[in-house]
Parts: sequence; C-alpha cells; structure tokens
Amino acid sequence: MPNFPKIGPDNDNGEASEPPPTVPKSLRAAQPPTPQDQGRHLQRLGHSDGVKASYRREKWRSRSMSISSNGNDVSSSGSVSSRSSFSSESGSSDEEEDAKFDPREREQKNSAGQSDFCVRNIKLATFGRREIEIAQESGLNIYAWKNMTEKGFWWCIDQCVAADFPSETATVEGEGVNKNVWANMILDDGGDLTHHLYKNYPDKFNNISGIVEENIAGIHRLYQMSRQGKLPAPVMNVNDSVTKTKFDNFYASRESVTDAIKRSTDCMIGGKLVVILGYGEVGKGCAAAFQGIGCNVMVTEVDPICAIQAAMQGFRIVRLEDVVHHADIVVTCTGNKNVVTRDHMNKLKKGCILANMGHSSVEIDVSSLATNELRWERIRSQVHHIHWPDGKYIVLLAKGGLANHNCSSIPSFVISVTATTQALALIELYKAPPTRYKADVYLLPKKMDEYVAQLHLTVFNAHITELTREQAAFLNINRTGPFKSQHYKY
Ligand code: NAD
Repeated sequence: MPNFPKIGPDNDNGEASEPPPTVPKSLRAAQPPTPQDQGRHLQRLGHSDGVKASYRREKWRSRSMSISSNGNDVSSSGSVSSRSSFSSESGSSDEEEDAKFDPREREQKNSAGQSDFCVRNIKLATFGRREIEIAQESGLNIYAWKNMTEKGFWWCIDQCVAADFPSETATVEGEGVNKNVWANMILDDGGDLTHHLYKNYPDKFNNISGIVEENIAGIHRLYQMSRQGKLPAPVMNVNDSVTKTKFDNFYASRESVTDAIKRSTDCMIGGKLVVILGYGEVGKGCAAAFQGIGCNVMVTEVDPICAIQAAMQGFRIVRLEDVVHHADIVVTCTGNKNVVTRDHMNKLKKGCILANMGHSSVEIDVSSLATNELRWERIRSQVHHIHWPDGKYIVLLAKGGLANHNCSSIPSFVISVTATTQALALIELYKAPPTRYKADVYLLPKKMDEYVAQLHLTVFNAHITELTREQAAFLNINRTGPFKSQHYKY
C-alpha cells in the first residue's frame, strides 16, 4: 500500500514542499477573504466525525419532471406497452406499488430500530439499491430515493441540516454527547447544500473547516462566491482533479453511453449516424464509444480547440440544424442549456434516439414537448416515444435526465476513484495547518491525485518505473512525485 502523500509545510522528509495549488489567476477572488471568513476557518473543533454528504443529485434522485400539459408526470399516465420486456427493470410488483408512495409518508425503521433516515422502502433492501442497504446496514442518517421530486430533494437537504452529529469530544452537561454539534466538513455535489446553508443557515459555517465540491456547476458557483469575497470556508475543487475528470467524465461515459442506449432500446448501434453535442471530456468519451462500435460520428462544438481535436480524431464538425434530419442518435454532452430545442426535435427523423449525457436535465428542452399536439407514450422505464401528429415519433431517454445514470449504471471502480479523491480532499482540508488554506478555491494537490491513481493501479497488476536520482535531477522533480506541474494537460 503506497504511503499517504505529505503535502506542503507538513512534509517532514526533507524534500521541497509543494505550495498548495490554487485557482488559476483569472478565476481568483477579486477581493481577499474577510477576517470573519478566516476566523471561521480557524475556529475548528477537535472532533473528526460527522462528515456531511450531499450526494450527487442526479445520481440519487433522477428527478422526475412534470412534463404533461395538465401538470401530471407523463410516466404515471402512460401505459406500459408489450414492449416492456426490458432486462434491467426489476419487474417487481412490490417496487411498482412502492413507486406510488412518497417515502416521506412512510414510517420506516431499520432492523436495528433506527428511524432517523428516509429511503424508498426499507422492506425492499434485498433488491440491492444502495441507499436502502446503507439505511438498513450502516445506521447512517441517509435521505435519498430514486425519482424524488424537487420538493423531496429540498426536504432531504433540510433533514440533513436539522440532523445532529453527536461527538465524543464535545459534551453537554450530564449527557456525554453534544446534541447541538453539526458537521465540520461539507462534501457537496452541485453546490446546493453549500448555497442553502449560506442563504438560510450561515451560522453553520462557524464550525466548517472546508468544503469539497466535485461538480462543474457547483464549482462555477463557488468561484463566483470567491470572486465576490463571499466564500465562508476553504474549498477543494475535485471536479478538476485529473483522476476524477478522466474517470467520471471520460472513461465512465465511454463505457456507459452505448450501454444505456442498448439496455433501454435494444437497438443495433453499429452503422448509425450519431451526433455528439460538445467535445469536452464527456463528449470525447461518448464519441470514442460510438466510433469504436462502428458508427458514423459527427460532433458539434462552439470551442475551436475542442472542434479541431474532434476533427483530428476523424469526426466531422457540423451544426446540429444541418444534420438533424439524418441523425439516428443525438447525444448531448455540453453542460449547457437547451442545446436541443423544440425546433431541432420537430426536424429529427422518425425513430431518432435522443439522450443527454451532460448536465442533469437542462440540455434538451423537454418542457417544450409538453404541448397538446404531441403524445407521450411510456414504452418502458426511462424510455418514452414522443409522437407527432404526422406519425413521426422520437425516442427520448430518461425524460432528458442523464442517460447513463438512469438507464445504465456507474461502475464501482469509477465511484471508487471519485470517492477516494473526495475523501483525500476532505482529509487534507481538515488536517492542514490553519494557515495553509484560506477562504478560497483550491485544486487538489497533484501528489494526492497521483496517490489516487497509484492506489487504483493495484487492480491492474501494474509495475510502474521508478526514476533514478540522475533522471529526477535532470527533470528537476522529486523521485516520488509530483511528476507533473499542476496545469499539465493529460
Ligand atoms: P467540458 O467543459 O469539458 O465539455 C463541454 C463541451 O461542450 C465544451 O467543449 C464546450 O465548448 C461545449 N459546448 C458548450 N456549449 C455548446 C453548444 N451550445 N454546442 C456545442 N458544444 C457546446 O465538460 P465535460 O467534462 O465534458 O462535462 C460536460 C457535462 O457533463 C457537465 O455538465 C458535467 O457535469 C456532465 N458530466 C456527466 C457525466 C455523466 O456520467 N453523464 C459525468 C461527468 C460529467
């Protein structure tokens, strides 16, 4: 097992210290943090439990959207057709029955008698859904279920805000446990918890040593706060750590996009004309997957650098409106809003599959499909046919939510890489000397990124080469890393 890397001034092995990496200059806070901000950071309590987790929203809630013109969710009004012989659906009538109830309306207790949690249906723990297993087995307070509504999502966050984090080191007279202690770290995904606290419960930050954020949208919001001098604690941006970006965005998308389409539509993918919108990490992964399976892949881009990369990879760079009539499969990967509009969808050819792999539910303008002349038909879980009056239909996956999260699965290896990165970031922020991180946004120290990769290399029985002293001196780096500068482009 490789040793946990030592960072910065703590480095006691006589090697040159690596200064904590920060945000690129262009993104740095315009104003220095206020003394109050810094004071909060320095105000640490001596307990280490109670790390707060706001799990990736889309992953857990797969938010159900209200899309029919009468405000009802189409999935509940549409009938399941005979085509619902879908292998990855559980087919459990218990689960279907269960889906009709809001978990908040249930009285739930796990086998240990604990009831401070809320999941879909604890009785269905054997069906392998992780949030249920956690509630059943670990006794953690967990508030999560698939298909939660927006209202349910905020209810869950409020449950976490209201929760106690009993600590062994902080005591209340006569009880031995301080019921008023709250979390001392935030692990956020999308920034919802951080912003909710900032707006409604700013005092909670008095005890927060740091925030770890892994989502691109959440990071944008935190950079904004940083520029305005409003950050209440130091932030570690793990979204831009190399291991996270490569695994969560590139490799996982490469493996899951075709899997999601195959599982949900059973269609033959080879030979199809596929349009990928956006050629960033996710788009590169998706394009590679379709290319590998024998598709004719075209790419749309706004950024000339990404566009030229796509061109060099052999993809044609097009505008969606120019090829929309011919596309068999359209996949959005931009992180941007309404990149597929109603106008585009009017022009898609019959049977075209439309899937979103980018930012939660915003990339496809699904709300524009809630008009009277269009008929929604639920084919099976996460698959709808949208019928036009002229007989044309398109196949919409996951109602415009993330296709891979809803129709496929995230490999545990990817979760392991991401979770390890997040855990190391939490440990680093918590254990660092108070002067190392102020209320600003930081990148994960390169050495930690390398450590995450090193830990996971064991899976591949890999033997990496060690630098000789002479070689390390020639490259002017330490023999044990970091091997690259912070801004090296892998
Ligand atoms: P990225 O910034 O590397 O890539 C997005 C690309 O889209 C950029 O190159 C940008 O120029 C391009 N773009 C933006 N607007 C466009 C438009 N209107 N038309 C065409 N191209 C446009 O980001 P990324 O790492 O590829 O992530 C993209 C999105 O996917 C993010 O929202 C991210 O949170 C999400 N994501 C999804 C998964 C998943 O499992 N589905 C995993 C990781 C990230």
